[in-house]
Amino acid sequence: MDIHVLGVGESADPALPNSSVIVSADGFRLMIDCGHSVPPVLWRELPDPDAVDALCFTHHHPDHCFGLVPALIRWTDDRRSKPLGIVTTADGRRQLGQLFQAGGIDPERSLSFPLQWSETPAEGEVGPFRIRTAPTLHAIPNLAIRLEAGGKSFAYSGDGRATEESEALFRGADLLFHECLTVEPDRSQPFHAAYTQLSGLPDRLAIRAMRLYHVRRDLRRELAAACAADPRIALAIPGERIAL
Ligand SMILES: [Zn+2]
Repeated sequence: MDIHVLGVGESADPALPNSSVIVSADGFRLMIDCGHSVPPVLWRELPDPDAVDALCFTHHHPDHCFGLVPALIRWTDDRRSKPLGIVTTADGRRQLGQLFQAGGIDPERSLSFPLQWSETPAEGEVGPFRIRTAPTLHAIPNLAIRLEAGGKSFAYSGDGRATEESEALFRGADLLFHECLTVEPDRSQPFHAAYTQLSGLPDRLAIRAMRLYHVRRDLRRELAAACAADPRIALAIPGERIAL
């Protein structure tokens, strides 16, 4: 299993694209989230219009899904013909329908390739991956994702604080990517995770490595210093490729 980190930024980071990764196994590429600042990095790093097989959304804030319509338009311009899987919730699909409408896109007629929708399962399969999901505590429903293939496991939190369910999902993961907006919990941000809430997870949940992303734009240095205490924990790096 390979992880290609497209973006690690929070919603309003002036330098780092919104958080998004591409997870691949057996030649199948599953992209997780596609926020408003992700398309340019996607076009730079994966210019082949057929590169992505499916897209899975953790939730539907703009920094996680507003890049979808521009991505689809570019793939159509580049004459993609391969179907694109879209995995999201029923509410998420309704919201994406409104985005298509706002962008003047009829997904049945305007695209050069078909969309194949499926509802995010609690447990199921996407391409070669076994997928499981669990809710985090966020301002709108957010599903953390666990993917397993070839005996390896990768988990991605989306946004939000960990819950009993998401911690059970993360248990024993080879690699966990977790949202981490601040170092200490911030009372004005009850729906985002903080380093001091996450630093015990590798021990408590037998997680081999953890990468933190969606860090508040003015806290990256402070968080990197905090992470230095545990070699299993580090900031996620844009452009990084990790082989599990
Ligand atoms: Zn969010």
